[in-house]
Amino acid sequence: MQGETALNATALALDPPQAARAAEAGPKTAPKMATRGVKLWYGAKQALFGIDLDIKANEATALIGPSGCGKSTYLRCLNRMNDVIEGCRIEGEITLDGEDVYDRRIDVVQLRARVGMVFQKPNPFPKSIYDNVAYGPRIHGLARGKAEMDEIVEQSLKGAGLWKEVADRLHAPGTGLSGGQQQRLCIARAIAVSPEVILMDEPCSALDPIATAHVEELIDELRHDFTIVIVTHNMQQAARVSQRTAFFHLGKLIEVGETDQVFTNPRERMTQEYITGRFG
Ligand code: ADP
Ligand code: MG
Repeated sequence: MQGETALNATALALDPPQAARAAEAGPKTAPKMATRGVKLWYGAKQALFGIDLDIKANEATALIGPSGCGKSTYLRCLNRMNDVIEGCRIEGEITLDGEDVYDRRIDVVQLRARVGMVFQKPNPFPKSIYDNVAYGPRIHGLARGKAEMDEIVEQSLKGAGLWKEVADRLHAPGTGLSGGQQQRLCIARAIAVSPEVILMDEPCSALDPIATAHVEELIDELRHDFTIVIVTHNMQQAARVSQRTAFFHLGKLIEVGETDQVFTNPRERMTQEYITGRFG
């Protein structure tokens, strides 16, 4: 309580927007990723209108908002997946550990190893379970021999909570697994290259409730080792898995804060209306 009083006193001494920012910032730890003034166009159509957002390390940040509001577009900016979309133009600044990800010296392949991605639909390669996980480490030369590769594969499958289910059939095709197992295989594939940030775009929307619960538990474990950004249209899921929530609407970031605060005491009326189901 004492700390809170001190914080309130500081907050009062600042003008309101600054006070809000000071309260929002909390202890001064540099964000893992930060975006400033990010605007994005698909041809003539603008999809993002100046997004300022900090992604904190070892937290899960949930991006919520109605369909078409720019959540996936924003997520793809973080590891430059939009680069491959023709006619897509981006302005503003995006940093990873303070380093501009659009700097000409940045190797995009390396960036995507540091900022990995898991998609909505599980998309294992048409290869064995083992080769799905070994794929990234092979490209990046992360293992010096078979024993090291075996170790990476085992650790990654353990990290994704899949090892016990597949240890006896590592050379069976990844596509033969159930949907939930396939999505955990994709998570194992993502963590095999030791990323720092994992982007997940509605990772459970193609899964049944049990598989969803499994992946949600996994996300909570993963955030201790990685930084997670998860897009979800499911507000209960955002509340369950994330520490911070960012609400997007029509390409703008309306509000961001601690997940509990956003869901119980949102600052913006639009957030309130969205979380109470008045639109979406
Ligand atoms: P969300 O993930 O919140 O549903 P998106 O980021 O997919 O929203 O889409 C934001 C807006 O950008 C939408 O109007 C969508 O139609 C448009 N959009 C998304 N991807 C593309 C693309 N590859 N080309 C053109 N327009 C796109
Ligand atoms: Mg989307």
